Amino acid sequence: MAESNSTTTRRRFLRQSVAASGLLFVPGLIGCSPAGNAASGTDTAPASPPPAEGQSGPLGVAILGLGGYASGQIAPALQLTEHCKLRGLITGSPEKLPEWQRKYDIPDGNTYTYDTMDGIADNADIDVIYVITPTATHRDFVVQAANAGKHVWCEKPMAMTPEECQEMIDACARNGVRLAIGYRMMHEPNTRKLIELTKERAYGALTGAHAYAGYGGSPPATDYWRGQRDMGGGALYDMGVYSVNGLRYGTQMAPEAVVKATQTRQDHANAVDLTTEYTLRYPDGMTAEGKTSVVTNYNELHIEAEDGWYEMDPMQPYTGVTGETSDGKLLGPAVANQQSIQMDDDALAIMNGTEFIAPGTLGKKDIAVIRAIIESAESGREVAIEHQEG
Ligand code: NAD
Repeated sequence: MAESNSTTTRRRFLRQSVAASGLLFVPGLIGCSPAGNAASGTDTAPASPPPAEGQSGPLGVAILGLGGYASGQIAPALQLTEHCKLRGLITGSPEKLPEWQRKYDIPDGNTYTYDTMDGIADNADIDVIYVITPTATHRDFVVQAANAGKHVWCEKPMAMTPEECQEMIDACARNGVRLAIGYRMMHEPNTRKLIELTKERAYGALTGAHAYAGYGGSPPATDYWRGQRDMGGGALYDMGVYSVNGLRYGTQMAPEAVVKATQTRQDHANAVDLTTEYTLRYPDGMTAEGKTSVVTNYNELHIEAEDGWYEMDPMQPYTGVTGETSDGKLLGPAVANQQSIQMDDDALAIMNGTEFIAPGTLGKKDIAVIRAIIESAESGREVAIEHQEG
């Protein structure tokens, strides 16, 4: 596809902006400042010239993996964004393409299969590839997307192990592109109010916390990835990552150990956990409780402090996230679409060269906690949590 001068220049800017620093382009009020967010970790955001008039967004996004979350949430949410545009599709099921193309007006030249996607490197319409596939496939798809020279957004949970996460981070760094994790709650405005209360220690020093994220479904089918341990199925990876991440942003602290953990599993090879419960300990001695399930409903993040408490209840549905404090303040109302806020925040971070709210480095920390929870459940012992630095 021939590139016009303006798209060539725009693409050069977007590629350079990985090396950008400073607040350069802040249209509207959609972006939430991630500055100083101890839960977010850091990623590199060095300098490039500000975009000249007409060379800024929207960023062209290609969705990789046209499954339930992509079709039900992300593609519709992209239509509501200010700084993103759905311009490309990448799938292993090309029979899905005609309907998607009709619905979202995507030209043939912007559609790919997993086998042809390396060609996206030459497509100036696409700035970002959003990976929305089963967890065990994230590492390979993210590395492939980064090698094609595109910024990458990757769904939660980031990958199976911290080592896989590091490979993803390294591939993005090597290719001069950036990596954000689809932690929609960290962009949700009411949740961000809770985060501010913790950052300010508005109710005094923290004394405890719990995060429960579960849904009351049937045990996942064993012929579906959510029912397969080696694909990243099960409660802890799928839903538990919300509790692990919620305890991190809710306390703004990194846990040092899993004190104890229990898991219930179906009884067959490759069986996933149906529920997991765990206790984390922090360097100051505080402990926090987490639990997660794919067969029981619960959904809250509660922070206990010396002078009161505050919580989100429910903490992580697509709509209706609301919070409350011990002195009767309400953290709400719910916002219309979390995912569009998330993607606009991440697009602005790329265009401005500022930090992501949820960079790959953060996703890796949470995967390290998940691995330590599994190790503690299997060994029956306390397990130190690694990879919390940075
Ligand atoms: P899904 O099963 O509905 O869709 C998965 C898609 O990946 C399908 O289109 C499938 O064809 C494709 N795929 C690619 N490689 C595959 C492979 N090797 N095996 C099986 N399928 C393969 O799943 P989903 O609900 O869309 O979840 C996808 C990702 O999005 C997961 O990482 C999940 O955790 C995440 N997710 C996030 C949220 C959120 O709120 N942030 C919500 C749902 C799902």
